[in-house]
Amino acid sequence: MRRQIVAGNWKMNYGLIQTETLISELKQQKKTSHAEVMIAPAFTNLWHAFEATRQFPIEVAAQNMHFSENGAYTGEVSAGMLNSIGIKTVILGHSERRAYFNETDEALAKKVDTALQHKMQVIFCFGEELSDRKSDKHENVVASQINNALFHLEAADFDNIILAYEPVWAIGTGETATPEQAQSMHAFIRKTLANKYGQDVAESVSILYGGSVKPNNAKEIFSKPDVDGGLIGGASLNAEDFFAIVNAF
Ligand code: 13P
Repeated sequence: MRRQIVAGNWKMNYGLIQTETLISELKQQKKTSHAEVMIAPAFTNLWHAFEATRQFPIEVAAQNMHFSENGAYTGEVSAGMLNSIGIKTVILGHSERRAYFNETDEALAKKVDTALQHKMQVIFCFGEELSDRKSDKHENVVASQINNALFHLEAADFDNIILAYEPVWAIGTGETATPEQAQSMHAFIRKTLANKYGQDVAESVSILYGGSVKPNNAKEIFSKPDVDGGLIGGASLNAEDFFAIVNAF
């Protein structure tokens, strides 16, 4: 069976004290589902988050990293630095990184390679903009994002890749893709993977949905056969809401 995962992307929210508080609240929540739980706090709080969840089934992920091993890249963080504090998972390709920090498919392909070389698992994000969907290009856009950043990989590399479909128009807008829209795109993504790598790889990769997932819509979205979990923004900043989503499986 594919891994079911609910990951919280905290984005640029919460300093150390709030991070401590939220993590201690998360640890008090009762998990009734089999979903794996991940959180991605800001870089400055990763070490604390890692330490605070050491004995706990909560995986701590970074929200980004650079593709180089080290060097003159002021303001950047490397895979080795993340590994040095125990971080083994990284979100790459989030639409906010693409839109505001000009991350290209080409740069993302390099980041994916670096992460895999460091034996990290990657939550790879992609998704179309509203204009793409309105002009019925959403499948083409998603196929090309996946193709450009991931299809140089070997089949075995997909053991460490989690995909996250996040339609840009649904992020932080309160507007969710309908469960049918999510299912249809996830099935298309799986078919695209199957065409390139075969059915076994396609069936084994977890595909998360992200974009305004909330406690009141998670169950319906997660009930779809090709939706293996969620990447949660706003609702991951509240322990009860986040665990209501975790427990929606
Ligand atoms: P929201 O859940 O706030 O829409 O954010 C989704 C997201 O971007 C997760 O990475």
